[in-house]
Amino acid sequence: MALKKKVLEDLQVFLPKKAFLVDEQVSNRKAGGLHTEEAIQAEIIVRPESTEEVSKILSVCNQAGQPVIVHGGLTGLVYGTRTSPDQLILSLERMNNIEEIDPIGRTLTCQSGVTLQNIQEKAESENMIFPLDLGARGSCSIGGNISTNAGGNRVIRYGMTRDSVLGIEAVTSDGTILSSMNRMIKNNAGYDLKQLFIGTEGTLGIVTRCVLRLREAPISQNTALVGIENFPSIITFLKHIDSGLGGNMSAFEVMWKEFYEMVTNSLDEKSLPLKKNIPYYVLVESMGSDQVKDEEHFESLLQKALEDSVIVDAVLAKSEKERKALWAFRDDVEKQAQYGPTVMFDVSLPINEMEEYVSKVDLNLQKYWKDFHHIVWGHLADGNLHLVVGTGDLESDTIKKIENSVYEPLEFIGGSISAEHGIGLEKKPYLHLSRSEAEINYMKALKDTFDPKGILNPGLIF
Ligand SMILES: Cc1cc2nc3c(=O)[nH]c(=O)nc-3n(C[C@H](O)[C@H](O)[C@H](O)COP(=O)(O)OP(=O)(O)OC[C@H]3O[C@@H](n4cnc5c(N)ncnc54)[C@H](O)[C@@H]3O)c2cc1C
Repeated sequence: MALKKKVLEDLQVFLPKKAFLVDEQVSNRKAGGLHTEEAIQAEIIVRPESTEEVSKILSVCNQAGQPVIVHGGLTGLVYGTRTSPDQLILSLERMNNIEEIDPIGRTLTCQSGVTLQNIQEKAESENMIFPLDLGARGSCSIGGNISTNAGGNRVIRYGMTRDSVLGIEAVTSDGTILSSMNRMIKNNAGYDLKQLFIGTEGTLGIVTRCVLRLREAPISQNTALVGIENFPSIITFLKHIDSGLGGNMSAFEVMWKEFYEMVTNSLDEKSLPLKKNIPYYVLVESMGSDQVKDEEHFESLLQKALEDSVIVDAVLAKSEKERKALWAFRDDVEKQAQYGPTVMFDVSLPINEMEEYVSKVDLNLQKYWKDFHHIVWGHLADGNLHLVVGTGDLESDTIKKIENSVYEPLEFIGGSISAEHGIGLEKKPYLHLSRSEAEINYMKALKDTFDPKGILNPGLIF
C-alpha cells in the first residue's frame, strides 16, 4: 500500500517545499528507541510550522482516511513512531519556538517541537528550572514528553510531566484546534481537557503548543554516589535520607552492579568514583537553599549511614563538573548496545517487592538460557525499575519467552507493565495485565470519539 496521491497533492497547495522530506531524508532516519536500528518506512515526512498548518494537514488526511504517525524527537522506547509505507509522518521538528517566559507567573509557553534541553536552558537563564529531566533531554521534544507523560530523574520531588503542564493546544483528527492554554495552577472550570492529551501517545490529538509550570531554581545542589551491600539497606537508606533532607530530596536512582559494570567496563578502574562489584549503587541528590549548610547536612547524613553500615562507601560531588560526571554514569543507558539486541522493560511495583521480583525474573530466564544479560536500574523511589534482557537474538519466540519471564511475576504482584514509557506497539499485547476490560473499553470509546476514522497513530496502545 502507498500513501494516498491525492493527499500529497492537497498538502502541496498550502505547504511550502521545505515542509516536505522525501527519499533518503526519510530513510536515513531511525524509527527511534535504544534497541533498534530500524530505518523509517515512509514516503514522506511533513513538517508544519504552526498549529494552523497541523489543523489543515489533519483535515485533508481525515477526509481521505489517510493514517498519520506523529514524530517528535524519536527517543520513545515502545515503537510508538514505527511507520509503514502507506502512512504519512507528521513531524513537529519545525515547531520549535519558545514563545514566552513569565518569571512572575513562573510559566514558559512554547511550541511542542522544542527539545527538553532547550526548555531547561531557557528556564535556567531566568533563574528558574523546568524540573522534568531525562537522559534523552538533548533530543526528545516537549510534545513527545507530554504525549508519553514522561517521568525521569526528579519525579520523586516534582512529579511526572503531567504535574508540570498547565495548558495545551492540540489538534484533533478532523483538524479541530482545541486550545486549553491555561496559565494558572488552579482551574477547575469543568473538565480539564488537556489531560486527554497527556500520556495518550498521540492517539487522541497532536499537541502543538503548551504552557509549562516552572519552579524557582534551587540555590544548592548536592549529589552523591553510594554503594550498598544488600536490598533491605537500600530501603533503610531511602527512609534515612528522605526524612533527613526534610523534603529536599530530588533524586534517588538505583543501579544494580551489572548496570555499573555495563557503564564502566571500558574505563580504567582507578578512574571510577566507586569500586566495582558492590551489589547496588545509589545516586542521591538534594536541592535546597544554602550550599554550605546543605552540603554539611548532606554529608552528615551520609556519614551517619556509613557509621550504621547502611551504606558501605560514598562519594560526594564537590563541583558541578563532578556532579555531571556522576549523572553521566546513570544516564549512559545507551551502553546496553554492547550486549547486542536487547528487550527493555519499564515496570512499576511496590519497593518492598523489588528484590524478590528481580530474583524471580532471573530464575525464569535461567529456565530458557544459560548465558544472558539481565541489567536492572531505575527510579527506585518512584517504584519504577528498568530491566534490559539480552539473550543473543530477537526472534519472535525469544522475545515472547523474555516477556513472559518478566511479566509473569509482575502480574502476580499487581505491578504495571509501563511506569513511564507508555504502551506504543511494543507493550500492547500485555495492556490487559495492567488495565481491566472496562478500563480498556472506555479508552477505546474515547478514541472513537476523538478519532472516529482511526487515522491518528493507528494501532498504538490497543
Ligand atoms: C537515553 C534515553 C533515556 C530515556 N530516559 C527516560 C526517562 O528517564 N523517563 C522517561 O519517561 N522516558 C525516558 N526515555 C524515553 C523517551 O525519551 C521519552 O518517552 C520521551 O518523552 C519521548 O519524546 P520524543 O519527543 O522523543 O517522542 P517520540 O519518540 O518522537 O514519540 C513518542 C510518542 O509520542 C507521540 N508524539 C510525539 N510528539 C507528539 C506530539 N507533539 N503530539 C502528539 N503525539 C506526539 C509519538 O507518536 C509517539 O507515540 C528515554 C529515552 C532515551 C533514548
